[in-house]
Amino acid sequence: MNVFSFSKTTLKNLFSAPATRPYPQQPRQYPERTRGHVEIDIEHCVFCGLCSRKCPADAIRVDRAAGTWSIERFGCIQCSYCVDSCPKKCLSMKQTYTAPAPEKSVDTYQKKPAAPAKEPEAAPKGENEHA
Ligand code: SF4
Ligand code: SF4
Repeated sequence: MNVFSFSKTTLKNLFSAPATRPYPQQPRQYPERTRGHVEIDIEHCVFCGLCSRKCPADAIRVDRAAGTWSIERFGCIQCSYCVDSCPKKCLSMKQTYTAPAPEKSVDTYQKKPAAPAKEPEAAPKGENEHA
């Protein structure tokens, strides 16, 4: 065994920067195109159901009547088909992953109901009245 070669490696490792990161103090920086999890901008969703029909893992549920969009996070395989097929471009892939959990769960998003149309204001009394 070459002792000098071993010592050289030891010394090199002693004085070089560590190969690991001090996680969680220094969080991981994901590459730009990482497919972590699906996010929805629910206010722009029209509940067409295309994302649900395209999903190969059957992880998306769309309820047009209730105005809800749901995803089973641990069923999703991050293929991004739903993002590519959304006609309103309201789905996107975010870089962070779903946190581990002991049970499967479904995340449901609800669109805010549209504000009721404003009634035209009644003209103040006396206006448009002829003397
Ligand atoms: S495809 Fe887009 S607009 Fe249609 S239901 Fe899915 S998220 Fe909503
Ligand atoms: S990324 Fe793929 S698996 Fe996940 S919800 Fe979208 S279509 Fe389904």
